Amino acid sequence: MVDLRIQYEKLGPEIDAAIKNVLKSTAFIRGPEVGIFEKELQKYLETNYVITCGNGTDALQISLMALGLKPGDEVITSDFTFISAIEVVALLGLKLILVDPDPYTYNITAEAVGKVISPRTKVIIPIHLFGQCADMENIMKVAKDNGIYVIEDSAQATGTDFIFSDGTGKKAGTIGIIGTTSFFPSKNLGCFGDGGALITNDELLAKKARSIANHGMKIKYRHDDIGINSRLDTIQAAILNVKLNYLDRFNDARRSVADFYDKALAGCKSITLPGRSAYSSHIFHQYTIRVGNGLRDELKNYLASVKIPSMIYYPGPLHIQDAYRYLGYAEEDFPVTSLLCKEVLSLPIHPDMEQEQLEYITCNILKFFETK
Ligand SMILES: *Cc1c(COP(=O)(O)O)cnc(C)c1O
Repeated sequence: MVDLRIQYEKLGPEIDAAIKNVLKSTAFIRGPEVGIFEKELQKYLETNYVITCGNGTDALQISLMALGLKPGDEVITSDFTFISAIEVVALLGLKLILVDPDPYTYNITAEAVGKVISPRTKVIIPIHLFGQCADMENIMKVAKDNGIYVIEDSAQATGTDFIFSDGTGKKAGTIGIIGTTSFFPSKNLGCFGDGGALITNDELLAKKARSIANHGMKIKYRHDDIGINSRLDTIQAAILNVKLNYLDRFNDARRSVADFYDKALAGCKSITLPGRSAYSSHIFHQYTIRVGNGLRDELKNYLASVKIPSMIYYPGPLHIQDAYRYLGYAEEDFPVTSLLCKEVLSLPIHPDMEQEQLEYITCNILKFFETK
């Protein structure tokens, strides 16, 4: 699905040197590379503050803590996603309100959000799924009209551009009051372990988030906030300093892979290609098709038999997971998510895919459908 080895082989000498530097300095926690990375990512995203932390899930938790939410406050997010946003909302005693995504872009819409806003709604968390932004312009409009914060989960969209209707653009994660991201190894900007960050233009929130990520301390051993311990290791920051320089190139390469898939699979009637919206670029963290006529699992098995990996992101709606039954949702409450969980299939995509591999994958997919 991803080939981290090829990438390491390509960037190896640069990354080895960066790691060695940290080993020699022994500044493993809060070394200078961490501050350098925060500044570089700030510049890349054109934002005022980047606060690194231990992982993308912590970044979401710290965001909600920094906004000072109270138990019972309502947070709206998607039923079709990775668990992080939902988990931290539940952990903090906030009330989860789930919505169905759009069946083509897989992202939540302003319309769906608008329908579940109540006087207790405090936050909307759009998740820019698979590398494409949700409709931030209209989501921000709904949020503003109702005095609600927006936290963007851009773990899968580091480097994606949102394009407003006036033609101006902003990077994913810089539009809401806070954005969060993850540097998990398979993410578009990934390190060699865990890592994450918060992104904001708000100085007070930045200070609060930095304090919360460090045991609630602004000054050593003085605890102003209830905090957690969540840091980006210096070694990971040193690796990210190398990889950030290649992010745009890698994202372009992923887009070329997606273009190839789009063209090769366009005539296939049982396949719905990933929708591309006019308001967002797409960095294809995943290339996720929908396979109709109940053929998804059969196709997946066929691909496995010819040594082509594929993955189901995500196999089950979150509202019916055992841990979240307490929310009281019924199985049929989110028909789009339920349909997507039956139809989605993510194909291999990474910046170093070769023409030959792409031809082998697409020829086999077409061959499978010839007999159907
Ligand atoms: C990966 C991911 C996260 C969390 O990342 P971790 O660093 O593994 O905690 C959160 N949200 C989404 C959508 C993700 O894909």
